[in-house]
Amino acid sequence: MTANSTAPQRAAIIINPAKTVDIDVRELAAKHSAENGWGETLWFETTKEDPGVGQAKEALAQGADIVIAGGGDGTVRCVAEVLSGGDIPMGLLPLGTGNLLARNLGMDITDYDGAMAGAFAGTERKIDVVRARRSDPEKEQLFLVMAGVGYDATIMADTDEELKHKVGWLAYVDAGIRNLPGKPVKATIVIDGQQAVRRGVRSVMVGNCGKVQGGLEIFPEAKMDDGLLDVAVLAPHHGRLGWLSVVAGMIGKGRGKDTAVEYFQGKTVEITLEHNDDYQLDGDHEGQGRHVLMSLDPGALTIRM
Ligand SMILES: [Mg+2]
Repeated sequence: MTANSTAPQRAAIIINPAKTVDIDVRELAAKHSAENGWGETLWFETTKEDPGVGQAKEALAQGADIVIAGGGDGTVRCVAEVLSGGDIPMGLLPLGTGNLLARNLGMDITDYDGAMAGAFAGTERKIDVVRARRSDPEKEQLFLVMAGVGYDATIMADTDEELKHKVGWLAYVDAGIRNLPGKPVKATIVIDGQQAVRRGVRSVMVGNCGKVQGGLEIFPEAKMDDGLLDVAVLAPHHGRLGWLSVVAGMIGKGRGKDTAVEYFQGKTVEITLEHNDDYQLDGDHEGQGRHVLMSLDPGALTIRM
């Protein structure tokens, strides 16, 4: 893809400057670029107004041979939005709280040097991405790990930032317990064009990967390269104990007997709620909505690690 075959390869790093790290990322990039005989690394910083999409486009325009997302899952999602469907791979320098994609890929999220080495000279693999199209407001976004409407999204919105920083995903569970009272919302879930269920749900979660922190493995059988979405419909029985049985069921990977959690697989899922409820993508609260169509784009993103 380089314009001039004699020009050295160049990496681009898109960094979220709000993430504080005890390493010099520029120095680390310079070291790996020198070791591999690459040119000077292109440096971009995300902003509140543009959390990564514009920077990733600019990196491609400047001829980057790899685009490294240096941030959390929000930065990763924005970079992936631009790279999906193209030939240029994405590298990961996990600097976030959750680092859900990196964890699902089996990366050691404390090894910055290893992450950078992998981005420059590691092996490539293709993973599925999910395009989520909302109609209220009209918006299309991509996600890589999981999205949800209802209760789990409320948890994302409510989580105490300081707590989130300290304990990561466990904070979400804590927020959940604080939030317990509430009502189910009537939802219609259509998988691959066929109505799967219609009932009062607390949450519908859609996964491309299975793992989150804190021992919760919401989709134990999800694979990020099998061409399938995994859907969990949480419709607990009434009351506090009902909801806790859902959480217990997930931790214990229980299925079958407890009808409070139902699992589906397919290539598309359409969720329609009776009224607006919270919505999240890869752990970021994205406001409220009542309709979303999610479809899988198999093997659309190349990761080098
Ligand atoms: Mg899958």
